[in-house]
Amino acid sequence: MVDADVIVVGAGPVGMVAALLAAHQGLDVLVLERDSSRHAQSRAIGITPPSLEIVQHLGLCSSFIANGIAVRSVRIHYGSRLLWTINFDQIDGTYPFVLAIPQHITEDILEKALLHAPSIRVLRGHAVQDVSANGNRVTAYGSYARQGRFHFTCRCLLGCDGGRSTTREALGIPFRGGADPHTFLMGDFEDSGTWGEDACFFLPLEGLLKHFPSLMGSAAMS
Ligand SMILES: Cc1cc2nc3c(=O)[nH]c(=O)nc-3n(C[C@H](O)[C@H](O)[C@H](O)COP(=O)(O)OP(=O)(O)OC[C@H]3O[C@@H](n4cnc5c(N)ncnc54)[C@H](O)[C@@H]3O)c2cc1C
Repeated sequence: MVDADVIVVGAGPVGMVAALLAAHQGLDVLVLERDSSRHAQSRAIGITPPSLEIVQHLGLCSSFIANGIAVRSVRIHYGSRLLWTINFDQIDGTYPFVLAIPQHITEDILEKALLHAPSIRVLRGHAVQDVSANGNRVTAYGSYARQGRFHFTCRCLLGCDGGRSTTREALGIPFRGGADPHTFLMGDFEDSGTWGEDACFFLPLEGLLKHFPSLMGSAAMS
């Protein structure tokens, strides 16, 4: 007897989509999330066509499209000179655009879907600290509310706990990669410019400035 067919560690965008896909297959899912509430930071600014196909499979695409802007081209400028325009309309598939949508809205939509799915339980404030696999049973150990301890068992555990994954370390899975040496700033600003619904990249000598449109007349700049 196990606590769930699948345990998902981490309720970021990847963990929430993984939980919804597993539930879609008729599996019973437990999501363990370390943080007791969600962040509202400016993070990812868009969803690419293959990811839109995945959320369509989950029946969520109309919610995403209603909350985003379909970016159909990127304009690349050097100073005031337009160097190039890249159009996405040649991309095969149902969605020949990048959907500009702030990550916290993406997470809102996914979290609502999670809370409405009868076969998914979400436990926030539950930090997984260790994982062990024994035959066809996996156990996640951790703590909640500072002193409480928990352990849950499942048939399959999905480590979706981000770049510094505790589950990856616990299972000794190697990671090739490292920190990006570049520094960048990112924020959401009121935008009274004339760039409209295109994305624009500016190439000043000091680096790269990117503009992505957002609903309500603002833009994410990085
Ligand atoms: C400032 C910033 C700007 C970014 N800008 C962009 C961008 O422009 N475009 C882009 O594509 N991407 C951007 N990203 C990256 C994007 O946010 C990530 O790719 C995305 O969040 C990854 O999703 P994830 O679900 O894999 O991981 P995360 O979003 O990191 O989610 C992991 C979740 O696991 C939880 N967790 C961690 N450890 C444990 C544990 N031990 N037990 C239980 N839960 C745990 C965390 O609390 C978190 O909720 C940006 C990120 C940051 C921080």
